[in-house]
Amino acid sequence: MTDGESIKIVDAFDLDDELRSLLKPGEMVRDADNRRHRLPRYFYEVPSHEAAMNIRLTPHFGLNEFVLVDLREAARLQDFPRYIPCAVRVLAFYLEQFRAAAGASVHIAVNGGYRSPAHKMAHNATAHMWGTAADIYRIGTTIVKTQEVIEKYNDLAEQLTDDITTYPYGHVTGSTADDHVHLDLGYITGVPREISEDRMELPQESRPRFAFEERRRRDRRATVPISDE
Ligand SMILES: [Zn+2]
Repeated sequence: MTDGESIKIVDAFDLDDELRSLLKPGEMVRDADNRRHRLPRYFYEVPSHEAAMNIRLTPHFGLNEFVLVDLREAARLQDFPRYIPCAVRVLAFYLEQFRAAAGASVHIAVNGGYRSPAHKMAHNATAHMWGTAADIYRIGTTIVKTQEVIEKYNDLAEQLTDDITTYPYGHVTGSTADDHVHLDLGYITGVPREISEDRMELPQESRPRFAFEERRRRDRRATVPISDE
C-alpha cells in the first residue's frame, strides 16, 4: 500500500460459514479447458466504502476499482467488510506499468476486477476469481470496443511483459473479448508475509453442509409464519 495505509489480511477459513461458502478458500475449480486450479485463501478485508475509496494500491489505482460489481455478485459480498484476494496488488503493479506504456488513464469495468466464485459471470475458473485479471473498457478518452483498438492494446500489454495474457477479439464467452481488453496474470495466489501457513484446513468441498444452509432448510420447512423482525 502507498501512503502508509495498511489493511487487514484475513485467512478466509476464519470467516463465517456464509462467507466461506461464497469465497470457497482452497477449493479446486476448473477452467474452460478442464484444468483444475486452487482458489485463494488469503484476502484483504476492506472495512468500508471510504476505505475502498481511500486506499491506493499504486499511484494510479485505488482498491475501489477492483471491487466494483453489480447485482451479479452475491449479495453478502457486496456488503462491507468486503474481501479481495491479496494477489490484487500484483495486478495493480502491472496495470500501473500498462498505464505508463499506454500513456493514458486505464479504466476497469464494473465486474471487471475481482469476481468471486459465486459471481454470476464466474462459470469457469478465470483469473478474475484470483483478483489477477482486469477488464478494461476505456483508456484515456478511447472506448475500447473495436477490434482495432482491442488488438492495439493487447499488443501493447503483451510487449510489456510475458506475464500478461490477453483475450483475442471475438465472441466466445470466457475466452475472447469483444467489448473490452482483458489483461490476465494467471492464477497467482498471494501469501502475505504476515501469514504463517502451518495451520491446515480442509476445503469445504470435503465438509458436510454448513450450519447456515441447514438454517435456511429449516426456514423453508417452517410451517408457522416467520416474523419480518
Ligand atoms: Zn476478463
